Amino acid sequence: MLEVESLSVAYQGAIRALHEVDLQVEAGDVIAVLGSNGAGKSTLLRAISGVIGLEGGAIVHGSVRFKGDDLRKVSAQRRVLSGLSHVPEGRHVFGHLTVEENLRAGAVGNTKRGRANALRDEVYGLFPILAERSTQRAAMLSGGEQQMLALGRALMSEPELLMLDEPSLGLAPRIVSQVADIIRVINERGATILLVEQNAAMALDVANRGVVLELGEVLLSGTASELGDDDRIRDLYLGSKDEAEFDLTPAADFRLAPWVA
Ligand code: ATP
Repeated sequence: MLEVESLSVAYQGAIRALHEVDLQVEAGDVIAVLGSNGAGKSTLLRAISGVIGLEGGAIVHGSVRFKGDDLRKVSAQRRVLSGLSHVPEGRHVFGHLTVEENLRAGAVGNTKRGRANALRDEVYGLFPILAERSTQRAAMLSGGEQQMLALGRALMSEPELLMLDEPSLGLAPRIVSQVADIIRVINERGATILLVEQNAAMALDVANRGVVLELGEVLLSGTASELGDDDRIRDLYLGSKDEAEFDLTPAADFRLAPWVA
């Protein structure tokens, strides 16, 4: 579905953020992209979604192909229409708009009212709390609810490849486990997922494969269980063996559809 080949990206023509990165994503995958601060994880997602230029960056070498098409000359908007969706770090919901208006803003390409309504209802089915808060301004939601709204808004474009940048950032551990559950459900419903996470335990629990970036280069790649068993990953990102066991106990106070929990 996605082939990243020898990708090098620089900011302001000088700051090397990625160097010769290769990544293959098959339909149905959940790929964890791990790495410490500044490793290049967000840059990778920006280069794939086409927003890298907005950040002062550019692809200096290599290629990104999505469903066989070379994306280099394809605008970010057209990439969304072709099935790519990117939820950037920090949620970026429209705080002054209602929950419902935020969802409608995500219905890119789904301009037929009936289709947009059906998608919105699916999102509300996935996140009942958003249905309850549909007329509230997004700024009034908790951090976890805003993350759900950002995810829901991305689902409104019916992505084939959903790219999530640090969806667990700043959330309480039990809410993180709910985010993990939701990612699984979205994947089971057919979306392929590229998941950037600092929370390696959560990411490897959800993913089938993973890649570790360091200083803009691929340090390691393999199946999630291979990476989870790798001593370097354990030392750098997972801590002790006990800490590596990710607690998936459903949260009592964050309501999702009953079939998710
Ligand atoms: P984090 O987990 O901290 O978000 P990351 O792995 O996502 O880190 P990137 O944000 O992709 O890493 O950053 C990769 C490199 O590019 C770093 O050296 C960073 O300082 C630099 N960088 C990122 N964004 C920009 C920008 N807009 N302008 C200049 N340099 C940038």
